[in-house]
Amino acid sequence: MKVTDHISKAKSTLFSFEVLPSIKGRDIQDLYDGIEPLMEFDPSFINVTYHREEYVFKKLNNGLHEKIAERKRPGTVSICAAIKNKYGVDTVPHLICGGFSRDETEIALIEMNYLGINNLLALRGDPVKGETQFIPEKDGHVYASTLVKQISQMNSGHYLDDEIVEGIPTDFCTGVAGYPEKHFEAQNLKHDLKHLKEKVDAGAHYIVTQLFFDNNKFFDFVKECRKIGITVPIVPGIKPITTLKHTTFLPKTFHIDMPEALADELEKCKNNQQVMEVGIEWGIQQVKELISFGSPCIHFYTMGKSEAVRRIVQNSY
Ligand SMILES: Cc1cc2nc3c(=O)[nH]c(=O)nc-3n(C[C@H](O)[C@H](O)[C@H](O)COP(=O)(O)OP(=O)(O)OC[C@H]3O[C@@H](n4cnc5c(N)ncnc54)[C@H](O)[C@@H]3O)c2cc1C
Repeated sequence: MKVTDHISKAKSTLFSFEVLPSIKGRDIQDLYDGIEPLMEFDPSFINVTYHREEYVFKKLNNGLHEKIAERKRPGTVSICAAIKNKYGVDTVPHLICGGFSRDETEIALIEMNYLGINNLLALRGDPVKGETQFIPEKDGHVYASTLVKQISQMNSGHYLDDEIVEGIPTDFCTGVAGYPEKHFEAQNLKHDLKHLKEKVDAGAHYIVTQLFFDNNKFFDFVKECRKIGITVPIVPGIKPITTLKHTTFLPKTFHIDMPEALADELEKCKNNQQVMEVGIEWGIQQVKELISFGSPCIHFYTMGKSEAVRRIVQNSY
């Protein structure tokens, strides 16, 4: 079933979560071990992230270093098919612009379609680690909006190959990313929202947000979206803080604020266990408030760790 069908049929706020593919060399069982504790809550869908290549420096026999591209977490689409098959739950692969030409994107979409995966999250992707700016592939998409347009065209039966006269239309339900605290490259929220609207106008069916700790930022974001005519469902993304490292890593990496009240509580913590308790309590309050606000679904970033998410879901719904 499509994400938007789950949302439109729901009688109360839904729950979904996101997992990362196992690191290369590990088994898919690692992933299942993270998923299993959350299955009792009956998630409506599970997202699987996409990780493009990273540059690493390998030492050669002559002592010099060679820069090579390595993909450390492959398998997004096959993992989606495996999860769908094992648990009977809808899955949402992430598809990015980075590293793909338009032709390669079309092939990836055809493969998803053959596997019966008709949900996806369309993203641009970040700059490759070690680079400061996003560089598209030759003939690849520069922004997520044109990727969404390509998907919409396939949904109308238009493939890139002009020799295909009567292409069978695909039926993808496309989600896109939204940023309550603006995307880090955007000069201000107004510009960012304008580009978000372009993605929706190109055919996106719903929005999933970047993680945030301050619900007011999300409420303001939804208000601003509605003001400029974005009418699709907006799903808030939540990630609980669980380690001391997260207290600086999450705000810095995702360009989000840490509310003073949360920072004060975290400052009192002496170890990861105490941080996790604060993170879970904060998460429960966030989720309860988001449910009261009428959020259609709450999307949890597990980043490979399910315990904190499990306790939040158990105590919020
Ligand atoms: C829910 C969610 C899931 C994610 N999953 C993944 C994942 O699995 N893999 C991964 O690599 N990354 C993932 N990301 C990160 C995402 O790829 C990055 O945040 C990326 O930098 C931007 O992606 P986007 O799709 O929002 O880009 P876009 O919508 O293309 O926006 C990128 C920037 O360009 C600006 N912009 C857009 N259109 C124009 C235009 N026409 N002219 C000028 N500026 C423009 C926007 O304002 C923004 O600042 C995820 C992010 C979120 C929120």
